[in-house]
Parts: sequence; structure tokens; C-alpha cells
Amino acid sequence: MTIFDQLESEVQSYARSFPVTFDKAQGAKLYDTEGREYIDFLAGAGTLNYGHNNPVLKEALIDYLQADGIAHGLDMHTRAKQELLEAFDQCILKPRDLEYVLQFTGPTGTNAVEAAMKIARKVKGRSEILAFTNGFHGCSLGALAATGNRHHRGGSGGVSLPDVTHMPYSNYFGNDVDTIAMIDQLIEDPSSGVDQPAAVLLETVQGEGGLNAASFDWLQGIEKLCKKHDMLLIVDDIQAGCGRTGTFFSFEPAGIKPDIVTLSKSLSGFGLPFALVMMRPELDIWEPGEHNGTFRGNNHAFVTATKAIRHFWSDDKFQNEVQEKAALLKKRFQEIANMAGPANMQPKGRGMMQGLSCKDGDLAKLVITRCFELGLVIETSGAYDQVVKCLCPLTITKDELNKALDIIEQSVKDIMTKRYQKAS
Ligand code: PLP
Repeated sequence: MTIFDQLESEVQSYARSFPVTFDKAQGAKLYDTEGREYIDFLAGAGTLNYGHNNPVLKEALIDYLQADGIAHGLDMHTRAKQELLEAFDQCILKPRDLEYVLQFTGPTGTNAVEAAMKIARKVKGRSEILAFTNGFHGCSLGALAATGNRHHRGGSGGVSLPDVTHMPYSNYFGNDVDTIAMIDQLIEDPSSGVDQPAAVLLETVQGEGGLNAASFDWLQGIEKLCKKHDMLLIVDDIQAGCGRTGTFFSFEPAGIKPDIVTLSKSLSGFGLPFALVMMRPELDIWEPGEHNGTFRGNNHAFVTATKAIRHFWSDDKFQNEVQEKAALLKKRFQEIANMAGPANMQPKGRGMMQGLSCKDGDLAKLVITRCFELGLVIETSGAYDQVVKCLCPLTITKDELNKALDIIEQSVKDIMTKRYQKAS
């Protein structure tokens, strides 16, 4: 029995798909304690967009540590935070003509979602929030109420998960059903049973929910609906943001401007915990310390975030490279799906958040198990864990990307030709 079996809670999940002990990592590669190399298509569930131990970020952090920079600063003003705010303003907000104030929350995505939901309710004086089928927003009780997945909701131990109504996401009922019109009617109708919401909370691409990408029309429709019914629009960009879909914010190509945005995961760029809520300045009606948290001042994360923002987001170069790689992913996932046949697999997703929707979870499990044997770490998502999901570092080289896609192709081939049949 290993020390993990002996002492670690049964709640562990990713460790079950990849039963080795990882030791080192660099760029898009992971190495286990036996020295075996893997390409990483999980990358901290979207936390390592700039790769493991990115040398540029590592150097900035080492310099800061060597100089005895502040490590933990509560919410006090520090040089590291000042430089982060300046970089965020210059490279992210101003070029996109966005005006937000930034709230530093506790350093998990879930805590940012909690804060976003609380401020929306406080501003509007209404408790109801609309969230969506297949949405994932975290596992603490407030955020969990907005999460669709029954498995995660079950973890609440039966306490109620109130004040959230789930509505059908873009294309939930297929192309022919206009879910915007449906939601509009439910809010409009004084007898529908839906109380007037304070806000709408959504992901533009549902990461955990199975790579469902909302159409830009739908996102624009939701923005209009929010204005019509006096609701705030909260975009949870924790997984889809920080360049994952090809632009810094996932909502940019849809041309919408949310009232509130949550960010975390790849924000620090180095895997250091860090989360933010961005809100229109007039919504910032918090009393001092009202949404508190000891670890809101992770200055090491501020240092790497500042470096990541200045290094990758000062111009369009990185964004263009990401979009080229996304096009390669799209092409190759389409080819693999064609090979498997449309009844077995369909390509899905947007940007560098794409994958293969399999006919069921068993097939997807076979694919990721075979991939792991062939040296690729890749996970599933979706209601039935049926979607094989690529979340590789955005800095992955084209060679590595092709090599990983070759592994997926080989795995699917092995399964389809029955050379490989059992997921262990
Ligand atoms: N929101 C989205 C869209 C997420 O994908 C996640 C995590 O996967 C969260 C919120 C929760 O973030 P965390 O796990 O850091 O609490």
C-alpha cells in the first residue's frame, strides 16, 4: 500500500486516471519518478497555459525571492501588486476598452465565483441567479448551487443549494430551439415560477461540462436579455480565459462586455493560486473587508502574473500563435472523429479547448487510458465523462502538439480495430 492509499482521502480524482508519481515538469512535458516522459494535455486543468516552470516566469519569481520581496501581504499595497495592476491596466484592460475594478478574492476560482454572486445579489437586492445546464463554477456551497453536475452537487451532503435557477445553455436542445426566447418568456411571465434574477452566470465554453461552446449570437442574445430584464451578466472566465480560447478573454470575439468577470487558473501563469473578480466600477459597493480572505495577497502569484501579462500579452504575437495551434487542433480532431465515424466521435469546443465527444463515457475512458499508456496525460469532461478534452499548455510547440495528436489518433485506431479493449 502506498502512502497515498494509506493517508490521502478518497476524494482524489485525477490521480485515479494517472496512477504514477510525478516528479518533474517542463513546458508541455511531465516526468514521473521512473523518468518516463508524458506530454501534458491536462496542464493543471487549464492552470498552466504558459507551460510548466516557464523559464521567463521562473526567473522573475526567483529574482523576487532572492530580493526578499513580500510573499504574503493580505490586501495591503505592495510593489508586486502595484506592478500587477499597472500591467493589467496597460496590456489587458486599456487595449480592449474595458473599464473594471479588480477585487482580489481568496485564491481559488470558487472563491471568485462566490464573490461575484454575492456582489451581484447585493447590488440588485435580489437573490436569484440564472446559471446553465452543464455549467461548472466550483464546489463551495454558493458556487455549487450554480454548478449543474449531479455528482458534484451530491457532495453537499443534502443541504439545499438555493437561489439559483438552471436554464438551458446555447444549443442544449439542438440548433432548432431558441433558448434565449425560452428564458425571456420564463422571466417575463409573472406566473412562470421564475423570480426576477439579479444576474446571469455563464461560461462561454463549458470546460467541465463537456466543451460546449456557446454561439456568439447566443452570447449577444444573453447580453441583450440582461439589459432588458435588469440583470447583471457574469462571465466565469476561470477556465476559458487567459488565452485558452485564442484571445485573453473568451468573450472578446462575441463582442460582449460582461458586468462582472471571474478569473483564476492561468492568471498567475505559474500554477500559483490567484483569483480575481473584475466588475464595472459602479458595482463595487463592498464595505471594507466584507468579502475577506487571508490569502488574497499571494504576491508570488502577482509577480508571475505580471511577467506573464507583459511577456505574452503586450502585442498580438502570442495570440496569433495560439489561434494557429487551435486551427491545427480543429483539423486533427475532425480527422480523428472522421476515422472513428460520427456515431462514435464528434469534434467539439473552441480555441485550445477542443476535444472529442465520444458516444459514451466508456469509450472516452478507453481513449484516455490508452493515451496514458502511450505517453499522453489527457482527461475527460462532460455529464457522462464522455468528452476527451485537450487543455494543453498554449506554449506547446507544433511538433509536440502533433505528437500528442498522433497518440490520440493511435489510441482511437487501436480501440476501433479492437486491438485495445479494456480500460483498467
Ligand atoms: N469556474 C470554472 C469555469 C472552472 O472551470 C472552475 C474549475 O475547474 C472553477 C470555477 C472553480 O475553480 P477552483 O477549482 O480553482 O476553485
